[in-house]
Amino acid sequence: MAKRGFPADAEKWVDLRSDTVTRPTPAMYQAMMEADLGDDVLGDEPTVARLERLAAEMVGKEAALFVPSGTMGNQIALAVHCRPGDAVLFEEEAHMLYYEVGAPGAIAGVVSWTLPSEDGGPAVEDLARHCRPASLHTPGTKLICLENSHNRKGGTVISLAKHRAYRALADERGVKIHLDGARVFNAAAAMGVEVREIAATVDTVNFCLSKGLRSPVGSLLCGSGAFIEEARIWRKRLGGGMRQSGLLAACGIVSLTQEVSRLAEDHARARRVAEAVHNLGLGANVELDRVQTNIVLIHVDDSAKWASALEAQGVLAIPFSATTLRLVFHADIDDAQADRAVQAFAKVGRS
Ligand SMILES: *Cc1c(COP(=O)(O)O)cnc(C)c1O
Repeated sequence: MAKRGFPADAEKWVDLRSDTVTRPTPAMYQAMMEADLGDDVLGDEPTVARLERLAAEMVGKEAALFVPSGTMGNQIALAVHCRPGDAVLFEEEAHMLYYEVGAPGAIAGVVSWTLPSEDGGPAVEDLARHCRPASLHTPGTKLICLENSHNRKGGTVISLAKHRAYRALADERGVKIHLDGARVFNAAAAMGVEVREIAATVDTVNFCLSKGLRSPVGSLLCGSGAFIEEARIWRKRLGGGMRQSGLLAACGIVSLTQEVSRLAEDHARARRVAEAVHNLGLGANVELDRVQTNIVLIHVDDSAKWASALEAQGVLAIPFSATTLRLVFHADIDDAQADRAVQAFAKVGRS
């Protein structure tokens, strides 16, 4: 059996920095060994083609494109949906604005309007007010970008009802919808629906294989056949054309066939740790109704201080703001490690 490839001291850490830290599963190493390979830029990569067909089918779209990262998938979507100078509506803490290094302005050249929200989903009326036709003075709104689950809001989920209301608005105004669904499989698990029910309300969706679904690399951008044809050109333009990428796609197929149903376990552990840490009453507080998927935001007096004290206890978390820590649960965190995290909070809180 293939080696798991853990660094020698990985067992020492309870790594809650992100679900991106998950290592490939033994089944993934096996799939890489056995994958049929070709050259995807030359158009004959059989394993990539299989992954793209599987992804398209699972989200209920005509086609899908394997891209190196969620960032690239999202930014390609903007470039295909919009022309420079068009306006795009975003929730104000959207990953596409917050963590993608200014790409909407730098690559697609769009104008970004931001709207506030509680749970990651802006009010339909707010979006309606900003869906404006182009005029001599104003940019025309071409696209609404959604994020579900919503990272900076703490993994919160946008309901199917709200998604459908967005769809009705977009149809009425002739605007398209792109979903940054980096963790849309988590959202679907939390809502108890199929991803394709969420995806049916949007024109295009990008989701990550490299987070809770445990692949080492990669995302899938999904949409109509014509959309994906143009997206393929943009991927090449941005330097995302890959050759024997069937090696990576082989892992992605394992993600989609073996890892989706496991996500609910991460949600249960996130919930359990959130409640335990909050109930310690030691200055680390959680808004429990916001713990809906695998992310937990913990409010403290000084997140940098807490992060380094937790690290000294072997627990890694990311300071998300001056007073917020983010914990993300994933397949490489078991119940014993979850308990260690709670004990570390207790120790740091008492010191
Ligand atoms: C991780 C993430 C992305 C894309 O991330 P990459 O690191 O570029 O793969 C996009 N949106 C959200 C909400 C994310 O959490």
